[in-house]
Amino acid sequence: MGRAGGWPRARLAMHAVGVFGGTFDPIHFGHLRLAEEMAEALGLARVLFIPAGQPPHRGTPRTPATHRLEMARRAVQGNPRFTVDGREVAAPGPSYTVDTLTSLRAELGTEVPVWLLLGGDAFLSLPTWHEWRRLFELAHLAVATRPNGGAQTGEPSSELQQEIAQRRNHETRDAPAGSVRMQAMTPLGISATAIRTALARHESARYLLPDAVLDYIHEHRLYIQP
Ligand code: ATP
Repeated sequence: MGRAGGWPRARLAMHAVGVFGGTFDPIHFGHLRLAEEMAEALGLARVLFIPAGQPPHRGTPRTPATHRLEMARRAVQGNPRFTVDGREVAAPGPSYTVDTLTSLRAELGTEVPVWLLLGGDAFLSLPTWHEWRRLFELAHLAVATRPNGGAQTGEPSSELQQEIAQRRNHETRDAPAGSVRMQAMTPLGISATAIRTALARHESARYLLPDAVLDYIHEHRLYIQP
């Protein structure tokens, strides 16, 4: 009757949850800035960072999940809106986003708005994801784009374009799922690959990721060639 978990309908949007998945090998300021800008733009009460256990598209990340999880935890420390969620790491087999969102929905209920946060490259690969159209039943999608139409890494496939055309900016204030929003974000040319390469060459990765994460990397001699 207009309420979920005791909250009046009008207040639901304040409890919108962002879900941000990735290999986070390692987590860096590109990830953190995306989550921060999305949280502000979408009015998210929380962002869950969900490190992938076995990403279906990329093979097993070479850094054990326990390290990727701990680096993510250290990265979000001090930000009350950010939490790390270990459910994909704990699950056996490949991590499918549709399964992750289904298990989250079982906890959050059907009415809380959930936003799946995606970088541009992840968005373009969406039609290759397991049961990708079901994602819209479970969440809204927010795609980080470069402002002023900066260099694109590719064009969405026609099936993705069609899906987006119907759903773009169609969110109603309290809808729990089903719309797509393109959200311009500050471009940061940081990638985990470049960080791993720099560290393997004993070059500095400072200011590309939080010091707490870099300290952890050095403590555990991650990415550094013997
Ligand atoms: P790798 O270099 O190993 O491919 P990555 O830096 O792209 O890693 P992922 O963990 O694969 O990191 O990315 C998780 C999500 O973060 C993806 O949706 C990706 O598009 C997005 N992302 C990664 N780096 C950036 C960045 N610098 N700016 C905006 N989004 C980013």
